[in-house]
Amino acid sequence: IGFVTGCDPEVGVAMEGELARQRRNIELIASENIVSPAVLAAMGSVLTNKYAEGYPGKRYYGGCQCVDVVEEIARRRACELFGAEHANVQPHSGAQANEAVYFALCETGDTVLGMSLANGGHLTHGSPVNFSGKHYNMISYGLDANGYIDYDQVRALAKEHRPKMIIAGASAYPREIRFDVFADIARETGAYLFVDMAHIAGLVAAGVHPSPVPYADVVTTTTHKTLRGPRGGMILCKKELAQKIDKAIFPGTQGGPLEHIIAAKAVCLGEAMLPSFREYGKQIVKNAKAMAARFSELGVNMVSGGTDNHLMLIDLQNLGITGKELEHRLDEVYITLNKNAVPNDPQSPFVTSGVRIGTPAVTTRGMREPEMARIAGWIYRTATDFEASADEIRREVTELCAKFPLYE
Ligand code: PLP
Repeated sequence: IGFVTGCDPEVGVAMEGELARQRRNIELIASENIVSPAVLAAMGSVLTNKYAEGYPGKRYYGGCQCVDVVEEIARRRACELFGAEHANVQPHSGAQANEAVYFALCETGDTVLGMSLANGGHLTHGSPVNFSGKHYNMISYGLDANGYIDYDQVRALAKEHRPKMIIAGASAYPREIRFDVFADIARETGAYLFVDMAHIAGLVAAGVHPSPVPYADVVTTTTHKTLRGPRGGMILCKKELAQKIDKAIFPGTQGGPLEHIIAAKAVCLGEAMLPSFREYGKQIVKNAKAMAARFSELGVNMVSGGTDNHLMLIDLQNLGITGKELEHRLDEVYITLNKNAVPNDPQSPFVTSGVRIGTPAVTTRGMREPEMARIAGWIYRTATDFEASADEIRREVTELCAKFPLYE
């Protein structure tokens, strides 16, 4: 960053501010993480200079010998790590990976069944403001009264509407997803099963969440969440769908691949194969459970009552504060998270009655169960006794973060 500041202080100073913020704050956004210096270095490399439309060995540009090697390593590692038959590592983002899956497996207007945004699904799973909701006939499923995916509803809707494709996966769901049940429903109704494992890919790689790969026709993921790589996407599929998926990415929905990002994906996938990554995955879940246990002791409600994975959804209605206000107050004491709707939320999506809390970034930073209990306590006091406790919490957060240095 210092180099950027030397060349372009206007940009560099803002970047230095962001590094300082990341060092100072406790990061609890469930979709964020802290990448390794090797991942950072690959992203900021000369590979950004190269155009490479096409795929390794079949490019539309000369000079692709080296990026071919890089992309082939990324594809091979993705297949090995997740036990997949084919990998496409070119999607620029999770949303673009998902768009390509629709493009490959469906025609415009086809019926697709996905989890509603209000119940924890992603925008690309059928929201009316997204391409998915605009171009396809989207049917939505949700949660049962206990906050778990309503598999009976999924089966009933699949039988009634006979979708071309069923989507499993979520952005704000704290429980294990039963890919075996989704696969049964898809088989019974003749639908493709498409799993978007963006949030849990790192947990799957670490062996602490069941893998969707044996069950799904196609699996997409982002590479920047629990998987702890560069911002980007990836698609895994069976051999027979490989050509369709590759064509749907290029030339279907993207132009040239970002080979510097693909290099960083390769580095991240290599890291995810190490024994230390399994420990990291286990610790993410232990940390989430420790934080949930402390919230329970404090009388804080969670959708579904707790967590099996890296995140929990706090329902703030009994604490008399909105998600928006708590997000804002926590920012003031250097704790970062996001407001999130809870099922049947009476507030608008801009206000919400809940917050989403994730443990991937604090786990990467080295924090463990004792720190999780303290963080839960600070969040509770920020919600219930802000004026009196803000200064003390800010001081304690600063002290804690100083004990877990970042990029030093
Ligand atoms: N799929 C899921 C389940 C997500 O949670 C997200 C992002 O939050 C995406 C897809 C989209 O990823 P991106 O932001 O890289 O487009």
